[in-house]
Amino acid sequence: MDANPAINESTIHAEVLVLGGGPGGYTAAFRAADLGKQVVLVERYPALGGVCLNVGCIPSKALLHVAQIIHEVDEFEQHGLNYGKPTLDIDKVRAWKESVSNSLVDGLARLVKQRKITLIQGTGQFTSERMVEVKTETGIQNVSFDQAIIAAGSHPTKIPVFPNDDPRLWDSTDALQLKEIPKKLLIVGGGIIGLEMATVYHAFGSEISVVELMDQIIPGCDNDLVTPLYRRIKKQYKNIWLETRVTSIEKHEDGLKVSFEGKSAPESALFDAVLVAVGRKPNGKLIGAELAGVNVDELGFIAADKQQRTNVPHIFAIGDIAGNPMLAHKASHEGKVAAEVASGLKAGFDALTIPAVAYTDPEVTWMGLTENQAKQQGIDYDKAVFPWAASGRSLSLGRKEGLTKILCEKETGRILGAGMVGPNAGELISEAVLALEMGADAEDIGLTVHPHPMLSETFAFAAEMITGSITDLYIKK
Ligand code: NAD
Repeated sequence: MDANPAINESTIHAEVLVLGGGPGGYTAAFRAADLGKQVVLVERYPALGGVCLNVGCIPSKALLHVAQIIHEVDEFEQHGLNYGKPTLDIDKVRAWKESVSNSLVDGLARLVKQRKITLIQGTGQFTSERMVEVKTETGIQNVSFDQAIIAAGSHPTKIPVFPNDDPRLWDSTDALQLKEIPKKLLIVGGGIIGLEMATVYHAFGSEISVVELMDQIIPGCDNDLVTPLYRRIKKQYKNIWLETRVTSIEKHEDGLKVSFEGKSAPESALFDAVLVAVGRKPNGKLIGAELAGVNVDELGFIAADKQQRTNVPHIFAIGDIAGNPMLAHKASHEGKVAAEVASGLKAGFDALTIPAVAYTDPEVTWMGLTENQAKQQGIDYDKAVFPWAASGRSLSLGRKEGLTKILCEKETGRILGAGMVGPNAGELISEAVLALEMGADAEDIGLTVHPHPMLSETFAFAAEMITGSITDLYIKK
């Protein structure tokens, strides 16, 4: 990254200072620059792109693609395609994964230059409500600002009683480094990170065990959408222990000895590596926010209003630090809002939903109201679940476990929520989000001509199940 061109002894000034160069921060910086603001972007790491590009979404998707190829080739043996057993050149796979991230990071550096944004590489902290001090490799650079956008992200939650200094105890960053393929890998946390990494390491040859505190994997999602994934991985993985907690992890020469407390788990077992994926913590307490008068809550979140303003009106907060869900696509949209408001435009974050996708195999995705939420809130809804066993496209992929579910308001037929599970299901959710944002009802969706044979048809079929016009299934009146 060609940073720090403007560093000098004296303070530099920013009309808009952006703290953090992840998907939220760089989007905010680019939008503010495009709206005519003179922008300083501060990022502590040499590469822009934050967790998402460097140690999150992008490298994990590169590895998940390799995992998918391994599974598809393996499964198609029974249908007449035989390549033999795959051999994995882990160094080459790692290099390829890194090249994917690097090409995006290089692209960001070009976009920074084209927009004439001043990029400072160093760790920034507020020293007052108009000043940030940046510790760079070559010294301290002070930056005064008219307005600031905090986009300083989050970090993996560590469990303090675990031996966090042991290289066999991983967080998601360690897992993505692909240093080795452990024989026996325990994953603590059956959420999105845990299950995505389980998908990768299982395909690469590890024996996987998953331990999850709650009574289902991906607890935020409706159980019926998670069940096809659960059924499949239950066959693939050695163990999935639900309603179970890890009580201790001890270092031993021949592995990490993990003790459990829960329904079906053993008292203890040895693993070659343990990945802890039990959520992320916002970085609100690490940036000197209190010196700028910005309120940070106990967990480290910085509350922001619909315009992304904090309690200090000329300081905005976006992305993971501003609240859940901690997703790159939330951060980038909030970043645009903050940049636009800071540039004097009338903007506000009024998205009706932020879709979630677990890039597992099968993928699981949902948006809008979940059925659990509809029940809790006493909302009267109609529900339809279209089985992918009746989708020609799904069968031609060799898979039939998928489902597309839609919830509509009983009185009006308007879509309230939707979810899918199946191979490539993540690609289908955007249409449901658009339908929700446009206020579509089941009839609108069913009457929208979908190309055949595509998985996306299943969304229209589910809507037709609600209106009663479905012909691809027989539903007894
Ligand atoms: P998560 O909240 O999705 O899952 C953590 C899981 O760990 C939960 O199921 C929780 O019940 C369980 N858990 C918590 N404490 C535990 C304990 N002591 N023992 C066993 N289980 C325990 O968090 P994550 O998977 O770490 O992901 C962090 C953030 O990153 C999330 O906001 C996630 O949405 C985001 N993320 C998103 C994607 C994506 O969009 N595909 C990918 C990776 C991460």
